Amino acid sequence: MVESRFPMLFEKCPYYGSTETITQLAWAEEAEKGRVNKDTSVAAEHIQTPLIDPKKPIGISAGILMLHIDWCANTECGRRRLTKAEVGAAPVSMGPPPRQGSSGGFMPKGFG
Ligand SMILES: [Zn+2]
Repeated sequence: MVESRFPMLFEKCPYYGSTETITQLAWAEEAEKGRVNKDTSVAAEHIQTPLIDPKKPIGISAGILMLHIDWCANTECGRRRLTKAEVGAAPVSMGPPPRQGSSGGFMPKGFG
């Protein structure tokens, strides 16, 4: 049994040590106005990678890696960076595989 290393948090920008991201700042301002929940975790981009072995039959759910990507809020930096990596489970659709460019197939579940 391998001890899970996820979720992995990348709290600081490796260049300036800033912990804030642009999306988090914008979100905080929206929360001030009461439009969103302050505690919700946000990122500008989410990249999902299904953890599926083509040599194995697909079960009813599949592991999925989710990368949270954002931009550093330090105005001298502004670099795109990884903020969080986590692994969750996604139910697998039983229909034909989605075509390239389609968003069907995997619905993220179990991410917070
Ligand atoms: Zn930075």
